[in-house]
Amino acid sequence: MKLPPTQRISRRKFIRDTSLSAAALAWAQRLWGADVSASLASTPAKKLGVALAGLGTYSTGQLGPALKETQFCKLVGVITRRPEIGAKWANDYGFPAKNVYNYDTMDKLAENPDIDVVYVVTPNGLHAEHVVKAAKAGKHVICEKPMANSVAECDTMIAACRDAKRSLSIGYRMHFDPYHQEMIKLAQGEFNPFTKIAAEFSFMMTVHQWRIEKKLSGGGPLVDIGIYSFHAACLAANANPLAVTAKEMPKKRPEFFTEVEETIEWTMEFPGGATATCRASYNDNVNRFRADSAKGWIELSPAYSYTGIKGSTSRGPLNFPPMRQQAKQLDGIARSILDKKDSPVPGELGRRDMVIMAGIYQSAATGKRVELKYS
Ligand code: NAD
Repeated sequence: MKLPPTQRISRRKFIRDTSLSAAALAWAQRLWGADVSASLASTPAKKLGVALAGLGTYSTGQLGPALKETQFCKLVGVITRRPEIGAKWANDYGFPAKNVYNYDTMDKLAENPDIDVVYVVTPNGLHAEHVVKAAKAGKHVICEKPMANSVAECDTMIAACRDAKRSLSIGYRMHFDPYHQEMIKLAQGEFNPFTKIAAEFSFMMTVHQWRIEKKLSGGGPLVDIGIYSFHAACLAANANPLAVTAKEMPKKRPEFFTEVEETIEWTMEFPGGATATCRASYNDNVNRFRADSAKGWIELSPAYSYTGIKGSTSRGPLNFPPMRQQAKQLDGIARSILDKKDSPVPGELGRRDMVIMAGIYQSAATGKRVELKYS
């Protein structure tokens, strides 16, 4: 049902105003450090039903298993190009074969009350199309990072979910990781402000796949893994960057990386003078984050892995028990839907990151410092 015109206008204004950096940050901050295993305001009558769209490596290795551990949601359907794989998932996860869809039958999701949430885990260039289809079918949506290929696509996705009155979240799993929550706590408290941040994520890409095809990926290591380092840097700086300066490094394997960058380096400038120096590459193996302030430092290495993060601060080593980030993330988002609250990792935060990445690519292309505009 559409909102009456007066409400639509004020809601539009609200979205326009709140898509500014400070509000996106405030939304994201609300859950930082919170215990997502805590009980709901009211006990849900049922777990939310989730359908995974895209049954590739991440769904198979991480999200499916996480949905066996979640308290507030469970896997009840899939959207896939391959019906035989869908049937296998139905069998493995114990949901009915009727809950297997393909991308052309997503409108039929509207008739299926089992499914409350669609989690889009397809190649980046397809996120916008699949999120819009899910929203039009009246489902809440979780979309993997990076949110899309452009800021314009992010706007379309946010508008589709807003018009359908459905929640839109981004799969930012690090928000739910205890090492990153500790970093955020220090950034907002004892070590505030972090003024010097250095972050890098890289791995050796050797297999040809959609990640090196620009149309499906939207970019190279920056959008795939660099997003982790600058997102963490924003959390450490407790702000959004004002400007970026970036440089694409010469390719060592130009015949392999014909459409996207192989390595990119960039600097971000934050309000108050803090800076972050970041690097992302498909030709290296580094996974590291460090933030320094006059009062102390934190270092994580590896910093962005699913498990096995190691960290220490100027006060000593950090030692958190093993956990599954994706289960916490799914429950955190499910809880926000059940409680009818804003998502802890909203679409607006994904859009903010798209603005930053567009600025980084613009700076690399022009050789100039780029001031970022979030509205
Ligand atoms: P993948 O290639 O393993 O899986 C992609 C899936 O999309 C496959 O099941 C494929 O069949 C399906 N698909 C549908 N239409 C397609 C098309 N036209 N072309 C190609 N594939 C199509 O990829 P993945 O590693 O699972 O990544 C999927 C998404 O999840 C990406 O957006 C990626 O950035 C994100 N991801 C996030 C994390 C995280 O830690 N949050 C980790 C890995 C991947």
